[in-house]
Amino acid sequence: MKGRALITGGAGFLGSHLCDALLGEGYSVVVVDNLLTGRLSNLEHLRNEPRFEFQKLDVNQPFDCGPVDYIFHFACPASPVDYTEHGIATLKVGSVGTFHVLDVARKYQAKYLVSSTSECYGDPLEHPQKESYWGYVNPVGPRSVYDEAKRFTEAVTMAYHRYHNVDARIVRIFNTYGPRMQINDGRVVPNFMKQALRGEPLTVYGDGGQTRSFCYVSDEIEGFLRLSRSDEHLPVNIGNPNEFTILECAQRVIAITGSKSRIDFKPLPPDDPKLRRPDITKAREVLGWEPKVDLDTGLRLSLDYFRGAVIAEPVL
Ligand code: UDP
Repeated sequence: MKGRALITGGAGFLGSHLCDALLGEGYSVVVVDNLLTGRLSNLEHLRNEPRFEFQKLDVNQPFDCGPVDYIFHFACPASPVDYTEHGIATLKVGSVGTFHVLDVARKYQAKYLVSSTSECYGDPLEHPQKESYWGYVNPVGPRSVYDEAKRFTEAVTMAYHRYHNVDARIVRIFNTYGPRMQINDGRVVPNFMKQALRGEPLTVYGDGGQTRSFCYVSDEIEGFLRLSRSDEHLPVNIGNPNEFTILECAQRVIAITGSKSRIDFKPLPPDDPKLRRPDITKAREVLGWEPKVDLDTGLRLSLDYFRGAVIAEPVL
């Protein structure tokens, strides 16, 4: 046995893939999740795994899941639709909840890795975004519940590292996609996949000229594992540096699904970042990591999952 790992938010998209990766490497895993946005169906396949344990609890209350060697703190609503609906819960888990998870790390002297976000850079004035960029965030806009929660998460993590010697790491995650994304979480890839597979118009917000860089989930998870084994305590960007406009993304989804859907243009949500692309020099140099799966391949690898999810979801 390699040790016991705690994954907060392990019933979510990234958390559940992390479970699989850690179990695959021989760790035992305990997931804690309040199931606010996570789903047990993401963990269903682990039901009979003796090295796996699920505890339904809310990290916003003090908790003790027993001794652990590693902590991956991934609990947080993460899609714009989810964190807008659960704004207060998002701020709480980024602050109070993160204190509680760090207290567990301190108690058991566990190695700790927390999920942060490219949203720390806000609507960036520097492009691509390096870790040294401090960001351009509207502290009172609709996205602030997420952006400022995660910025605070980073601050409290560094404080526990500096004042309490917690062996901490911070990953700034850029747009990631793949199987187990919720079909209704409002993010661009599930939205476009669902619309294309149903033959409905793809809803491009604004003129579709805003950019994102999409990382396939297996690449992203490999980045987390490498960071967790490194001695880097300051934030590290993990994301795919290939940048696409949202209009290009819509066209790729239409091509890969073979859909006849047209594109509809809808209003751009407030404070929607115009450009986003990670500078991954640090991940390359410190972790020897870079993504391997390009967008077309990743969309193809995700297609069966999205087909199944669309069939399972009643059309309202
Ligand atoms: N977007 C879009 N249509 C959709 C959903 C999203 O055009 O149906 C755009 C959104 O405005 C943003 C980008 O796609 O510019 C990525 O949005 P997402 O919600 O996936 O995450 P974000 O990167 O904004 O956090």
